[in-house]
Amino acid sequence: MLDLNHGSGCQYQKPDHDPGITMAVNAAIDAALVVRNRSQVARQYVSTSGIGRECLRQIQYDYLAVPKDEGRDFEPKTLRIFEAGHRGEDVVAAWLRAAGFDLRTERRDGRQFGFSVLNGRFKGHIDGCLVGGPVAMAYPALWENKALGVSSWKDVVKRGVVLSKPVYAAQLALYQAYMDLPAPALFTALNRDTWEIHCELVPFDAALAQTMSDRALQVVQASDAQEMLPRASAERTSVVCRGGKTAGGWHGACSWQDRCWGTCR
Ligand code: SF4
Repeated sequence: MLDLNHGSGCQYQKPDHDPGITMAVNAAIDAALVVRNRSQVARQYVSTSGIGRECLRQIQYDYLAVPKDEGRDFEPKTLRIFEAGHRGEDVVAAWLRAAGFDLRTERRDGRQFGFSVLNGRFKGHIDGCLVGGPVAMAYPALWENKALGVSSWKDVVKRGVVLSKPVYAAQLALYQAYMDLPAPALFTALNRDTWEIHCELVPFDAALAQTMSDRALQVVQASDAQEMLPRASAERTSVVCRGGKTAGGWHGACSWQDRCWGTCR
C-alpha cells in the first residue's frame, strides 16, 4: 500500500500546470450557472432585500422585472458568491442548532417563513426565528445572516450593521415589524474567508420600518399609475449608478443605466 504520511518519503506527483483543464471546468460551471439563473422566473414583487437601496427608480425597474441592460446581468462570479452565501447560511444555522439554539427556519411544508402585503406585491422571507437558546437574550428573536467578503465583514465588525450596511438594516426592521418580532434581532455576519461569525443584537427601529414600508407602497403605486419614480442621482457618472464606494457604503453598478439615461425608460 502506498504510504502517504508525512515523512514517508513518498514523492507526490507534481500537479499538471496546464491551465487548460482549469479553464475548461470553470467555463462549464459558469455556463451552467448562467443558464440556471436565466431560467429562474423573475420576481413580481418588491423585495425586502432591495428596498433599502438608494434609488427608487432602480427598485422600480427590479419590481417591474424590466430586462437588464445588455451585458449587465449577474456575472458567473457573482452567481457563485450568491450561492456560497446561501450555503453559508445553512452552515451557520447548523452551528447555532449544535450550540443549543432552538432555531426555526422552515414551516411544516418546508417553505421559509415570511410576509406578504399589498396583495402579494411586497414580500419578504426571513432566514429564521430563534425561539430559545443558551445565550441570555430576548426570545423569540429574528435571525438574519449574511456571508461577507473580508473587507465588507471587517467594516460591519467595526461600524455595526446599521451604519455599515443600511440595506440590511432596512431588511431587519421590516422583518421585525411584519413578522411581529420586536425583540432585538440576532444579526450574524459570516466571514467568507475565515468562517468567523460576527454577531449583533439589533434593536427594532420602527421609524425605519415605516419609511421602508412607505417606499414599497410608493413603488407599487407609481408602477400602477405607469409613472417612473425619480432617479437618486442627477448624473449618470454618480457612484449610485456606475457602482463604487461612498461614505454611505458600497453600491453595485446599476443594471439599468443605459435604459435609465437613454431614451427608452
Ligand atoms: S442608473 Fe442611477 S438613477 Fe438610474 S435607476 Fe440606476 S441607480 Fe437609479
